Amino acid sequence: MLIHGGTAFIGGTFTRADVRISGGRIAETGALSPMPGEETRDASGLFVLPGFVDIHIHGFGGYDCMRGEDDVRAMSRELIETGVAAFVPTTMSAGEDETRAALLGIQAVCDRPEACGARVLGAHMEAPFLSPKHIGAQRGECLQLPSVAAYMRMTAGVNCVRMMTLAPELPGALELIKELKRRGVVTCAAHSDATAEDVHAAADAGLTQITHIFNAQTPLHHRAPGVPGAGLADERITVQMIADCIHLHPDVLRIAALCKGATGVALISDSMEAAGLPDGQYALGGQAVFVSGGAARLAGGVLAGSTLKMHEAVRNMITRAGIAPEIVIPMATSTPARSIGAVGYGEIAPGYAGVVVMMDAGWNFVGALRE
Ligand SMILES: [Zn+2]
Repeated sequence: MLIHGGTAFIGGTFTRADVRISGGRIAETGALSPMPGEETRDASGLFVLPGFVDIHIHGFGGYDCMRGEDDVRAMSRELIETGVAAFVPTTMSAGEDETRAALLGIQAVCDRPEACGARVLGAHMEAPFLSPKHIGAQRGECLQLPSVAAYMRMTAGVNCVRMMTLAPELPGALELIKELKRRGVVTCAAHSDATAEDVHAAADAGLTQITHIFNAQTPLHHRAPGVPGAGLADERITVQMIADCIHLHPDVLRIAALCKGATGVALISDSMEAAGLPDGQYALGGQAVFVSGGAARLAGGVLAGSTLKMHEAVRNMITRAGIAPEIVIPMATSTPARSIGAVGYGEIAPGYAGVVVMMDAGWNFVGALRE
């Protein structure tokens, strides 16, 4: 397939270039002519971007990764239509057996991917080693203290865990972070009552990310900068951010982007099953969730994931937070990929995943192209 006439994001800048996709991969870029019989798409007046990489997502389109393999497969098929090239299905607080079952469902799709779907890069465990003081929409009765033994029980026979969110101030957390680092699992802090000092100490042990910065964690006070302050100040840390303008004010999106730059922020959806569907009643982790005006809340009013799509996060960062597109696009593509060591995603370059996104001059999503 030849995508011609567009303005492509290549090597960190926008440039007039045609893009050829062949055999499921980006084949070449530049001034290209169609080959005999080749399918062509006109991208005149459009931006052509790498497929998005979403490293924190619970559900989409009525599907939830806690319900098993079939739901993860459906997420894979639907997400690619929204421009997502790869994603990391994210578990919720649940019992140990239920968590392990969900991980095995995610692993099945890792091992045998959907032919025409967004690729599953592994699993992100968002529970159960969290603080009850910042529980968000997690289930309190399922939380436990960090423990290598509990991690081993939940992941027996599982080899797909790529990320773990935990509260680094809890007893046992540093030992678990070190073990996860040894195993190549990326550790992230959230649902946490940590001080900034706790977070820096966790980074010394191997923690490299803050999950949904500012949400479900200590606040940034000027004499006690908490989890978000440490995440913004510590150059070893990448911050995941929900850019829906519901979880965070546009000024806060801008502050984080100015602090961390293109390589320090990973835009995430943190979406639940209502993403891509109308307002109404849904579920997250077995709890009723009410979606109104795109905001997903438990009955008590606590935010319960989002209904955000990655292309909407990109548009919000550019048009509402006022951040330059050259800074924003990496935050949805190459930075999240690199933050978990995923090779072959997040760039328009030969050999990379053959999924590209088209957006118009107002940063509205036009469509995803793949082969
Ligand atoms: Zn989440």
